[in-house]
Amino acid sequence: MVDFSLSDTERDIRDWVRNFVQRELMPLEPEVLRRERAGERGLSKDELAELRDKARQAGFWGVQTPEEYGGMDLSAVLTALIEVELGRTFVPFSFGGYADNILYYANEEQKQRYLIPTIEGQRKSCFAITEPGAGSDAKNIRTTARKEGSEWVIDGEKTFITGGIDADFAMVFAVTDKDKGADGGVTCFLADRDMGWKSEPIDIMGEWDRMPASLVFDGVRVPEENVLGEVGQGFALAMQWIGRGRYLLPARALGGCERLLDMAVQYSKGRETFGEPIADRQAIQWMIADSAVEIEALRWLVLQAAWQVDSGMDSRHAQSMAKLHGGVRANEIVDRVMQIHGGMGYTRELPVERWYRDLRLLRIFEGTDEIQRRTIARNLIKGHASIGGVLG
Ligand SMILES: Cc1cc2nc3c(=O)[nH]c(=O)nc-3n(C[C@H](O)[C@H](O)[C@H](O)COP(=O)(O)OP(=O)(O)OC[C@H]3O[C@@H](n4cnc5c(N)ncnc54)[C@H](O)[C@@H]3O)c2cc1C
Repeated sequence: MVDFSLSDTERDIRDWVRNFVQRELMPLEPEVLRRERAGERGLSKDELAELRDKARQAGFWGVQTPEEYGGMDLSAVLTALIEVELGRTFVPFSFGGYADNILYYANEEQKQRYLIPTIEGQRKSCFAITEPGAGSDAKNIRTTARKEGSEWVIDGEKTFITGGIDADFAMVFAVTDKDKGADGGVTCFLADRDMGWKSEPIDIMGEWDRMPASLVFDGVRVPEENVLGEVGQGFALAMQWIGRGRYLLPARALGGCERLLDMAVQYSKGRETFGEPIADRQAIQWMIADSAVEIEALRWLVLQAAWQVDSGMDSRHAQSMAKLHGGVRANEIVDRVMQIHGGMGYTRELPVERWYRDLRLLRIFEGTDEIQRRTIARNLIKGHASIGGVLG
């Protein structure tokens, strides 16, 4: 039997986050908007730390972090439900106690220097694979690392690196064997900022929390003990990082879409034209109905992908479908919501335009729409996935 209901524990956790978002985050929205529009961070580092501490006191910390590191080790389904709740606000918040999945491949000594301080919020990482000449085709990276004695010397440029402005260290991917390339010739290095790499912010359409940077490695010397995992096995790590939670990006977008649709419904009831609320017009109702259906479809694509992760299945096909549908539909929905708000939707008085700019990124990063379509089509053509999905 297929059961779509939540257990009591799942409901309690989801409701706790829902209350936290309503009580602690939503009241900050006007100030976050004001600051962002003045070109500042929506939340200062201290404010973010304070909110994370508050959540931690209530036991909310390290949502997917293993219990041995003090985390909650929640399932993918619960994590997705939490992301939906966080997505209902544009206040740039995530729970503390997180470290990149690939840092768990660190050896014991690296764990003390990188993994644990990252979980504790004392150090910040960034993931650096994209280059000016290699984005979707990440196998084409040109940054090199050559061995000199007990050090590796890294040369090259990375671009669009989220968190690259603040990061204390980069998980940087470089070619260590040109002949093997991505197939055994790419290595991941833990490169501290004080080893000499430089970062420059890249101005984007979105706000501060999304701000990426370009990173320049000009003869940066990294000790050999800073190789993450095995020499030559970096590309597999990179794919694991990117695949760590493709269902989580659309989950957050789903929360945003729910909030936006609710705003549109409320606005349509209050706004009158030609003597009647616009909510009575079929043109408006169709936009509301289509958005509601697309939101439901997205919910089940996200939760099904998360369920596959929890079930230990190969979830890549389901995750690509959730990411693609999330990116395309969320952008259609925010566009309709702006349309329903008329001129007000286009102003900076309301956050609709902020969401409009923010959601656009979902179609580009961590695998563009086109790359997701390529994956989905190839899986079907090669027989790695079936049209009926897990139900056959
Ligand atoms: C805000 C932001 C944050 C980011 N954060 C990170 C980060 O933290 N770390 C990191 O390493 N990278 C990061 N990226 C990089 C991101 O993953 C890449 O921008 C993305 O993978 C696309 O690569 P590209 O920009 O080089 O576009 P390209 O690969 O040049 O693609 C250009 C266009 O061609 C299409 N295209 C490409 N190949 C094909 C194909 N085979 N078939 C059909 N169409 C194709 C694409 O879909 C796209 O429409 C970030 C990007 C942004 C914008």
